[in-house]
Amino acid sequence: MFFKTKNIYNVNTYGAEILKKPSDEIKDVTPEIHKIAEEMILTMQLFDGIGLAGPQYGVHIRIVALAVPAPENPAISPGEALLLPRMPMVIINPEIIAAGETTDTAEEGCLSVPEIFAPVERPQFIQFRAQTIDGELIECECGGLLARCLQHEVDHLQGILFVDRLTKEDFSVIESKLKRLKKSGSRKDFKKTISV
Ligand SMILES: [Zn+2]
Repeated sequence: MFFKTKNIYNVNTYGAEILKKPSDEIKDVTPEIHKIAEEMILTMQLFDGIGLAGPQYGVHIRIVALAVPAPENPAISPGEALLLPRMPMVIINPEIIAAGETTDTAEEGCLSVPEIFAPVERPQFIQFRAQTIDGELIECECGGLLARCLQHEVDHLQGILFVDRLTKEDFSVIESKLKRLKKSGSRKDFKKTISV
C-alpha cells in the first residue's frame, strides 16, 4: 500500500509574528472568504480544536471558526442556545460589546500553544456581536464555555494569546515550556495522507 500526501494543513504557533498583530475587519464576504472559512473549519477539526482564529490559520482578518461542544447543564445562556446547535460554524468581525463583572478562572489551551495549559480569569458573561458567514447579524448574551472561547478568539484578533493573560506566578510555571516551543519553530503541520 502506498501513502500519498494530499494536503498539509498548518497552524501558526507561539513565536509567529502574525499572532501578535491585530487583524483587519472584513468588509465583504467574498467567495475567497467562504473558501478560507471552509479550510479553517477543516484545519480546526484536524487539530481537534474548539476554535481557530484567522491569524492562527495565517490570515490577518477578523474571522473565527468555532466548534464549542454543548454543555451537560441544560441552563444555557441565550447565546449558547442560539449558536451551539450550529457548530461547527464561522463568525465574521466578532466583538465583545460588554462584559459582566463576575469572573471565573479555568484552564485554557490553544492550538497555537500546543500541549501547554494554564488558568485564565475571564468574565463569565459577555454581550457578543458578530456576523455569520451568510450575513446574519448576531447579538446575544453568552455564558459558559462559549463565552470563554469567544473571548479567547477575539483576543487572537487583537494579537493577544491566553498566555499573555496569566498571573506572574502562573506564567513562570510555563515559561520554560514556552521558550522551548518558540525554539522549535512557529508552525505546526498536519499532513493528511490518503491511501492509494
Ligand atoms: Zn487560541
